[in-house]
Amino acid sequence: SREIQLAARPHGEPKESDFRLVEVEVPDPGPGEILIRNTWMSVDPYMRGRMSDRKSYVPPFAVGAPLEGGAVGEVVASESEDRQVGDTVTHQLGWREYVVMPAAHTRKVDVDGISPSAHLGVLGMPGLTAYAGLLDVGGLKDGDVVFVSGAAGAVGSLVGQLAKLRGHTVIGSAGSAAKVAHLLDDLGFDAAFNYKDGPVADALAAAAPDGIDLFFDNVGGEHLEAAIGALNDHGRVALCGAISGYNATEPPPGPTNMFLIVGKRLTLRGFIVRDHATRRPDMVAEVVPALRDGRITFRETVVEGLENAPAAFRGLLRGENTGKMVVKIG
Ligand code: NDP
Repeated sequence: SREIQLAARPHGEPKESDFRLVEVEVPDPGPGEILIRNTWMSVDPYMRGRMSDRKSYVPPFAVGAPLEGGAVGEVVASESEDRQVGDTVTHQLGWREYVVMPAAHTRKVDVDGISPSAHLGVLGMPGLTAYAGLLDVGGLKDGDVVFVSGAAGAVGSLVGQLAKLRGHTVIGSAGSAAKVAHLLDDLGFDAAFNYKDGPVADALAAAAPDGIDLFFDNVGGEHLEAAIGALNDHGRVALCGAISGYNATEPPPGPTNMFLIVGKRLTLRGFIVRDHATRRPDMVAEVVPALRDGRITFRETVVEGLENAPAAFRGLLRGENTGKMVVKIG
C-alpha cells in the first residue's frame, strides 16, 4: 500500500519536495478493527496549518509520518460486528491507499444516489462548517444582506446557497471570471466579483450599495478590512478562515479600520467546526433533500491518483478548484 508522508515543513507555498510517496506494509485488522480501501480523500486548507510546527487547535503533522485528513473508503476486511465488508465509511486517515483502524473511529455513510465524495464536501466537514457558521455563529436573521468570501469554494458555495434558500440577498467574491460566472449563473448569487480585478472595498461597495449585515469570511486580510467598512451597524462576522495568509512567512497585517468595530457595534466571532458536531443531523436533514431536488448543487474538482494528492493540495491553495477539491484514489 502507498501513503503520502510529510517530507519537510513547507516554508511559504508548499513545494512538491515537501511530500514523499512511500510504500508500506498494512497489518491485518485485530479485534474491533477493519481494513479499509480508501477511494476518495480530501485536501483542505487547514492542513497547511498542520504542516507548520506551531501551536494550534489541531497538533502539527510529524515530518516522516503519513499525513492525515478526511477520507471515504470501502471496508474490505472486518473484525468488528459494527461494520460489514462492502460498507462505505468516512474517517480521518486519508493520504494512503489502505488503512487498518478501529471500526469505532469510522462513520458509516449512505451512498444511495449520492457520490461518496460528497461526504468530504457538501455533506461532510465543509458542509457542516457552512451550515453552523452561517446559522449559529453568524446568527443569520431576516433581511440580512450576506457577503461571503471564497464563495466558489467548498464552504463558501454552500453558505451562499443556504442563504439564498432563506430569501437573502447574497454577494460573493472569488478569484476568477469563470468562478464569478458560476456564482451568478449556477448558484443564484445576486452579485459577485473577482477580487483580483481591483480593491475589494470598491467592488464590495458597488455590489452592496446599502451595505452588508453578515460577513462569512474564508479569506481574511483585505477582504475582512473591506467588510468591516461595508458592514451596517450591529453587523456580524463569522470568522471561518483566513486563507489569504496561510502561506505567509510573516504575520499578515491586520485591518487598519478596527475602530469601526466599536462605532458600528459589530460582532466578530471565530469558530471551529468540530464544536458544532451536534448540528450535523440538522445540516443533513436540510441538505440531502435539497440536493435530491436540485435546490442545492455542488461542484467538485477531481484529481486522480494518490500520487497527485500533493499537487491537489498545492492547487487548492492557488485556487485551482471550483467547489470541493477531492482526490480519487485507485
Ligand atoms: P475552498 O474550497 O474555498 O478552497 C480554497 C480557496 O481559497 C481556493 O479555491 C481559492 O479560491 C481561495 N484562495 C486561495 N488563496 C486566496 C487568497 N490569497 N485570497 C483569496 N482567496 C484565496 O476551501 P474550503 O471551502 O475547504 O475552506 C474555505 C475556508 O474555510 C478556508 O479558509 C478554511 O481554512 C476555512 N475552514 C474553516 C473551518 C473552521 O472550522 N473554522 C472548517 C473548514 C474550512 P479563489 O480562486 O477564489 O482565490
